[in-house]
Amino acid sequence: MIKSRAIILHRFPYSDSSWIVKALTEECGIVSFIVKGGKSKDSPFKGALDPLASCEVVFRENPHAELLFVKEASILNWHKNLRENLLYLAEAQVMAEIILRYAPQGVPLQEEFLLLEEALSQLDEGDAGGPEATALENRADSASNPIAVGREVTSPTSAGNVFARFLLNICDLWGYHLDLTACSCCETALTEPPADFQPETGALICKACLGVSTSRARPETLRGLWSLRTGTSLIQPQFTENALLAYLRNHIGFMKDLKSLQFLNETRKLYFSP
Ligand SMILES: [Zn+2]
Repeated sequence: MIKSRAIILHRFPYSDSSWIVKALTEECGIVSFIVKGGKSKDSPFKGALDPLASCEVVFRENPHAELLFVKEASILNWHKNLRENLLYLAEAQVMAEIILRYAPQGVPLQEEFLLLEEALSQLDEGDAGGPEATALENRADSASNPIAVGREVTSPTSAGNVFARFLLNICDLWGYHLDLTACSCCETALTEPPADFQPETGALICKACLGVSTSRARPETLRGLWSLRTGTSLIQPQFTENALLAYLRNHIGFMKDLKSLQFLNETRKLYFSP
């Protein structure tokens, strides 16, 4: 029997009464469970197997079976606040889908688990303490926790740096490190926002190297990449997030587009329209 923390990445119906649940477990990577009677109000698992919930599951491992049975599941964090914010919810769904579809299969994914868990709890805590409390907290934990550097949620309509930083960390983890500190051409350390960013190669270009050429990246993207470098708040995070998604897509070679991206783009219109 295995007991592991898990984050529910996806759930879909199977027959009239059951679910198939895809979970990122801390111990065994991505596992598919069949949850018989899961749709019933009397299901013993309650919300523990809801998408994006953190839970603790007990199951028996079987390398020959595609679907495993959950013996026990209890909620650790349902992420209630995150669910009440459409933008955070949409971002969380994209993060979950990226891991579900592009993480290596059949291997433990402890680092991915920790990254996603951290991102979800940051979004969940997002605005709870108000901007000041969050800013203070950032200063306090940035010294000891590199993942938390630069996390700042400045307003209810800002998802802060959580999603962008998650994408950056995933690039790192999957072998596509993005160097935000120096110009890719002359290798000089950047002292101001880069003058261009190429999502095909991940190259950041300094002003001197760009010369008279026209930048292809938007100024918002370039400022955002600089904010990630310096640990300050992203003002219009969606541009930087899209640039990082494009970079990731170029490396992973997304065969199909992420379904959850469409929902995120629709949601962004509600939050960021002028
Ligand atoms: Zn340069």
